[in-house]
Amino acid sequence: GNALNPESVAKIFAAKERPSEHPLIIHSRDIAQARSLVVDWPQVASELASAFWPGPFTMVFQKSELVPDEISAGKNTVAIRISNHQVFKSLLELIEFPIAAPSANRFTKLSPSSSDHLDSMLLNRCAGYLEGGACAVGIESTVVSVVGGLVELLRPGHISLSDIEAVAGPITVKPNSVGIAPGQHHAHYRTVTPIRLVEKISTRGCGLTFGPPKNSMQLRWSFDPVMAAKELYDALYRLDQMSSEVIEVEKPPTGSGWEAIWDRLSRAAFSENS
Ligand code: AMP
Ligand code: MG
Repeated sequence: GNALNPESVAKIFAAKERPSEHPLIIHSRDIAQARSLVVDWPQVASELASAFWPGPFTMVFQKSELVPDEISAGKNTVAIRISNHQVFKSLLELIEFPIAAPSANRFTKLSPSSSDHLDSMLLNRCAGYLEGGACAVGIESTVVSVVGGLVELLRPGHISLSDIEAVAGPITVKPNSVGIAPGQHHAHYRTVTPIRLVEKISTRGCGLTFGPPKNSMQLRWSFDPVMAAKELYDALYRLDQMSSEVIEVEKPPTGSGWEAIWDRLSRAAFSENS
């Protein structure tokens, strides 16, 4: 939707059943358009932009009056990114305004990483969709705040903490910022079938394993964090179709590079009792 039009923004919230306190990311076509949406552009934003834009990297700024309050959930900040996807870039070239474009899922549901995953209920509420193929990265963008020139990691992603620190120096990491970042909502990225994190998948279990699958309801998961992220939502989508009672997911390593996967998995596997 047109990010500068409150009515089109409201339609996105309605289609996604997204609570109004969860702000949307604005996609801009270039730095000039991004700068028109903010009142303060710190030097570190230029450094991060030249390192990671276009790409799966979102920066939060103090917003300008051009940005409707609906987009930023009433906050005085706005999240902006510049995509490197050729189809999306072409779309942004054709229009005058920036676009609010969240993932095509209903609130708390699994994020789609290909049009095969689209939920018909959501699709019925949309004018249509632009086919861009399967997502190259597979998980949501990394989100950092650069407000006041202070860099803070709000949501881990493909661009890792160490990638960011190589450009910006040591930064703060915001733990569980519920209410600030929608992707940080504790129950998120949910399949219909409950997900259980396990050390080792059971022989008859349905789920994701780093070892050889032991039955047709097991999918093999890459032991490389970049590949694992790319496969994650598609694998969970397919496992969710198998009508098993539970999806077992083998715990990935805890080392560097796996932060974004752990972030998504711990929310996908959230249980009211845990
Ligand atoms: P998505 O889940 O890709 O639709 O993106 C929403 C994400 O954008 C949330 O998880 C937040 O991390 C982030 N976000 C959007 N606007 C803001 C904002 N004004 N302040 C902080 N984070 C924001
Ligand atoms: Mg989303």
